[in-house]
Amino acid sequence: MKEHCGVFGVVGPDSTRLTYEGLKLLQHRGQESAGISWIENGKIKTSKGLGLVGEALNPGDIGISSFSIGHVRYSTTGATTLQEAQPLDDGEISVSFNGTITNHFKFGRYSTDTEFILGFLSKEISSGRSLESSAKAFMDVADGAFSLLILSVSGEIVALRDPRGFRPLVLGEIGENKVIASEDSAIRQLGGRVVGSVHPGEMVILNERGFYREKVHTLQTTTCSFEYIYFSRPDSEIDGISVYTSRIKLGEILAEHHPAKGDIVVPVPDSSRPIALGFSRASGIPLEEALVRTVTSKRSFIMPSNEARNDVLKEKFGVVESAINEKRVILVDDSIVRGNTMKRLVTSLKSAGAKEVHVRIGSPMIKYPCYMGIDFPKRSELIGNLGSEAMIAREIGADSVEYLSVNEMEQAIGRTTLCKACFTGYYPLKGRYDLSNLESVFAR
Ligand code: SF4
Repeated sequence: MKEHCGVFGVVGPDSTRLTYEGLKLLQHRGQESAGISWIENGKIKTSKGLGLVGEALNPGDIGISSFSIGHVRYSTTGATTLQEAQPLDDGEISVSFNGTITNHFKFGRYSTDTEFILGFLSKEISSGRSLESSAKAFMDVADGAFSLLILSVSGEIVALRDPRGFRPLVLGEIGENKVIASEDSAIRQLGGRVVGSVHPGEMVILNERGFYREKVHTLQTTTCSFEYIYFSRPDSEIDGISVYTSRIKLGEILAEHHPAKGDIVVPVPDSSRPIALGFSRASGIPLEEALVRTVTSKRSFIMPSNEARNDVLKEKFGVVESAINEKRVILVDDSIVRGNTMKRLVTSLKSAGAKEVHVRIGSPMIKYPCYMGIDFPKRSELIGNLGSEAMIAREIGADSVEYLSVNEMEQAIGRTTLCKACFTGYYPLKGRYDLSNLESVFAR
């Protein structure tokens, strides 16, 4: 399972600087490439590169403009090449997008869904349609997840959030600047005020006069559960619900319904810390930060290949032996995907002296790939398909493994309007698909 992308766009006097800073604050959403598009001399210019924002972009190369959009990327489709980094522009419009257009392969030979978006919009515009009308036509035909920013040379940003609202998208103001971003925490950290979420199925136009909002589509909302469990920053709110509070509650409910006899609770840093804290508070078992993430490590699941991922795993965690020696450890994580990381951690804890290791997971068992913006391995590689919790415990060498149920997860997050497809196999898509075909297109 791999991270997807983050988008940030600004209309206002400080546009390009704020977009650059905003991308740095969304770095957790994609670390393979970064880019910014802006308007200069009546044309769209784009600067992009591979790596983290600070490596990929040189602020000196980015022009000063009142209109810009940016992107940090993990490639959910396509390879990690500079040509495929976003934003993608044709000189007149530029697109920057978070999600996956699940049906893009039905529209011809586009190598990525971003190319499909740009190609579709360009064709509509050259046939005489306005950008707004072209964007609505795109929403009619596209299936899947998209939080999409379109920058136009005419001096506006058109933003769309797909009708299911799979990915977050938030409006805000920073001084005189109008801002749109994947997460509200980035807007607040830049000293801004959050106006609110872009609603599922809504189109928002940002120009120098302000925001114009229009509901284009209505479908049952199914926001990605993993935005709460793992992806988003804990200091973000998604559709009015605090990510941090959700994670604490995931841990509390885990402790209540899936207790374990242990001496200490140990989080797998970083995203499972609040879940472990909730578990510790509810169970009364002390929390110990006995796993140390090496500062230079990237999250293994956003690494582009198995080889890269395994290299990262080797150097990812250190163990505080004095904290775990002779202890019964309750190891808390947000999810298990292939099981490589968890198996390695259990082995490390036991070799460092842990008497027992009980694994508790703050999400339901993942059994199906995602085709809505998160890069998953194929179904056969998901450890959840091994069978029971006892079989998974045996496979990873743990004394026990327990997961939350789907109902318990919904209760913790405090909403039922969530996508749960990777747990249940029910995909909330508009179209009907041959799932094995989707797997061959999207899963790795
Ligand atoms: S399938 Fe899972 S990861 Fe994908 S959108 Fe749904 S909840 Fe999120």
